[in-house]
Amino acid sequence: MLSYRHAYHAGNSADVLKHFVIERILNYLVQKPKPCFYLDTHAGAGRYALGAAIANKTAEYQSGIAQLLKADKPPEVMRQYLQAVKACTAQTGELAYPGSPWIASHCLRASDRLALCELHPQDAPLLIENFKRDRRVNVYCEDGFTKSLALLPPAQRRGLTVIDPSYEVKADYDDVVEHIKALHKRFATGIYALWYPVVDAARITRLESRFKQAGLKNTQLFELQTYKGDKPGMYASGMIVVNAPWTLKADVALALPWLAEVLGQDDSATYRAVTVCAES
Ligand code: SAM
Repeated sequence: MLSYRHAYHAGNSADVLKHFVIERILNYLVQKPKPCFYLDTHAGAGRYALGAAIANKTAEYQSGIAQLLKADKPPEVMRQYLQAVKACTAQTGELAYPGSPWIASHCLRASDRLALCELHPQDAPLLIENFKRDRRVNVYCEDGFTKSLALLPPAQRRGLTVIDPSYEVKADYDDVVEHIKALHKRFATGIYALWYPVVDAARITRLESRFKQAGLKNTQLFELQTYKGDKPGMYASGMIVVNAPWTLKADVALALPWLAEVLGQDDSATYRAVTVCAES
């Protein structure tokens, strides 16, 4: 089932949290001179024109990135993510929002490599087009779950895998945990970042307890709620990071209160930063 298209949602509050966390992890990885590997199992189109009709059908970016760009005094820890967003618009001169592949390509160096998986018949060609001049990037129009097992461990032996499915199939909530366990078996020192939507809180309680049971060391969870969960739809979203860099929890904790304040749509806006499994 491939009915989901990220262009409808690009730049919403869930993207903001997800891409900020990805930027922080990559910023940590590039502090060391050794090359690293970025793998996106569900890449999307890579970059989204915010003036396009598809982005303006629900205009979710208006309550997401647009609020951040006009807000006063963003925390210093968000500076590089916000610069990346502005650089994406500057690249082509049209109002645009970067997808996870674009954020990664912006943060990484000439010596690093990126592998992007995307299955959608409309988004895969856009992804290829967006990165055709970037020699660091390989695009795979293949199933990201299967391909990631084949691509890990990477030659670089350090890197980040982002798992960002569309959860069109409810089984995804269970499958992602089993998949991360399988990837971790192949590449135990890799960093894994999973995005999840909160539509039904019970599903996330279950997801969290499955990660607890998995016992993967140093697993951190970050969640942002932007409105009360009393109507249908996604009212919060989060990231679960396995082998989180030691700097990540403090970085995200500095941003979450500001994000809740700027992106919150009612007085129930809140956040969580939880250690799901400790380092030892
Ligand atoms: N990671 C992107 C970002 O942050 O910019 C957004 C990705 S979007 C949430 C999920 C994407 O996964 C969709 O573009 C969808 O077409 C794609 N997709 C769904 N199933 C897939 C699969 N099995 N393998 C690869 N891509 C898949």
